[in-house]
Amino acid sequence: MAIRQRPGFPVNVERTAKVTEKTNVYFDLKPGQSVNLRFTPPSDESGELFFVSAQHFKMKQEGQPRAYACLRAHGVDQECPICVFLERIEEVFADNDTLREKLHREHDVAYRWHAQVVPVPKEGQGLAEQTYVIGLSKATADKVSKILMMEKDNRLILLTDPDEGQAINISRNEKTGFGTRYEVMPTGLRMSLDAITTVSAAGVPAWEEKFLNVRDALKLRIEKPESLYPIIAETVGIVAFAKVFPEVTL
Ligand SMILES: [Zn+2]
Repeated sequence: MAIRQRPGFPVNVERTAKVTEKTNVYFDLKPGQSVNLRFTPPSDESGELFFVSAQHFKMKQEGQPRAYACLRAHGVDQECPICVFLERIEEVFADNDTLREKLHREHDVAYRWHAQVVPVPKEGQGLAEQTYVIGLSKATADKVSKILMMEKDNRLILLTDPDEGQAINISRNEKTGFGTRYEVMPTGLRMSLDAITTVSAAGVPAWEEKFLNVRDALKLRIEKPESLYPIIAETVGIVAFAKVFPEVTL
């Protein structure tokens, strides 16, 4: 009797868990969407509201597109092979504008300013059961910093105050890609974080119970430099890799 072949692949439990974990924590503003956000106090002892990440996107490992932390920003005195690659192609592929532009567009280091937020529930929406991490561009994060500065100059309660901070409205235009723009506006609506999150049986508000360390929540892939070489090779192809890194054996 022939063995009947069943469709599908074995489930990868770790990978599945990682994916759901990540989408659970990330707050994503969709095109055309507008939201009022309350920023929590910083999770870093430096007191900086934003944690800045530097990542190379769309790198490939085992066929999966992934982002890797830039080691110039997140390594400990380590050189970043992806940055080196992108610098060397200027000379190595001087005659191939299309290739150079594509590689820069897809993999140049991208910076994001991350903070922890709680979305203010809209009419008919339930209270937030957790906090989220939002990733903003420098221009958008600057607008939030300016509101903070204005509050300080005018001796107002800061927007990060857990009890009386004001909600900040962030809206995204309809465009995607390079056309994406965000507007940031102070709403003047002051509210306690306790009032917009659920409360546990023990009486602890969810924003306190599930308070995140922003840096850790991002789960940046900080690899050793030598581990990045095979990833670069898979991403750009073995031929291009060998031309740029003739001294590296995979
Ligand atoms: Zn880099």
